[in-house]
Amino acid sequence: MLLDAAARRIDYLRISVTDRCNLRCRYCMPAAGVPEMGHGDVLRFEEIAAFVEVAAGEGIGSVRLTGGEPLARLGCPDLVRMLAVIPGVREVSLTTNGTLLPRYAMALRGAGLQRVNIGLPSLDATTYRHLTRGGNLDEALAGLDAALAHGFAPVKVNVVLLRGINDDPAPFVELTRRLPVEVRFIEYMPIGPESPGRYFVAASEVLDRLRELGPWEEVEALPGRGPAQHAFRLPGAPGRLACIAPVSDHFCRGCNRLRLTADGRLRLCLLSPREIDLKPALRPRPDAAALRALLQRAMTEKPRRMGDEADGFGRAMSQIGG
Ligand code: SAM
Ligand code: SF4
Repeated sequence: MLLDAAARRIDYLRISVTDRCNLRCRYCMPAAGVPEMGHGDVLRFEEIAAFVEVAAGEGIGSVRLTGGEPLARLGCPDLVRMLAVIPGVREVSLTTNGTLLPRYAMALRGAGLQRVNIGLPSLDATTYRHLTRGGNLDEALAGLDAALAHGFAPVKVNVVLLRGINDDPAPFVELTRRLPVEVRFIEYMPIGPESPGRYFVAASEVLDRLRELGPWEEVEALPGRGPAQHAFRLPGAPGRLACIAPVSDHFCRGCNRLRLTADGRLRLCLLSPREIDLKPALRPRPDAAALRALLQRAMTEKPRRMGDEADGFGRAMSQIGG
């Protein structure tokens, strides 16, 4: 079992499989994208699996693939299959923008993927295109349908809210009337191309607006490894809603995770540039003992709380994976 210096149990790993993306969401990436990692710098699937094998042996039982857009990397279902059979891995999940799910959902399910989170910032085609700088809402909705049709459970929908652009929760409330999804309204974090500034919407404000759209039943959030604990449901509705407040309500005390970047760095906190380079323990071939030692080092170096450092985040959100 991995315990860090603040006695937090670390049992969850988010793996960014690529820094590339087929969208350019305004809250995540600059319009021109970010400088791409060289192919040789990106970890091979065998290298990712070698690290997960060591991590799972130390108690990390839950892994989530993210990106960039993870499905933009060819062979993603092959990686899922490799990870799902590693002893100690209880769950493999995916965070995606959904647009490529119609093509890959069946293969992913067959490979052992259990859960899917879909980033879907608007249900209005024009607003979706604006927020994603060119994305097609129909493709994302087809991805949501594919996720439900292939039996992923739960399916969660991530909505980063921007004031004056997509801050009306009503269309998502309607979505929960129709579909068994958990919609999660997420505060816009100051990591990305520009500061949220006037676009920031606090979770408390969303909750006030939701109250007007009720009545609500309070329910437990659907299972997951993340920070949403409480959710709301319209009586009789198949879906539910939750708020995630990384800015107004730091949840560092309950942090259970590490992140692996596509270029092989163990990121110790989303909001800190502190990273440990795993490549020396992975190349020319994976060295399990060296990887285990780096994991232990991560336990001593993981920041106790966000905001310990004043030197920025080092990467855009798309290069970390959320
Ligand atoms: N491309 C996939 C997607 O869009 O879900 C996976 C990678 S993306 C970086 C992971 C998640 O990060 C997105 O679903 C989005 O909700 C979240 N995200 C991106 N930028 C954010 C920001 N500035 N603040 C809060 N969440 C953000
Ligand atoms: Fe791409 Fe996801 Fe970032 Fe949007 S949020 S630009 S889909 S990585």
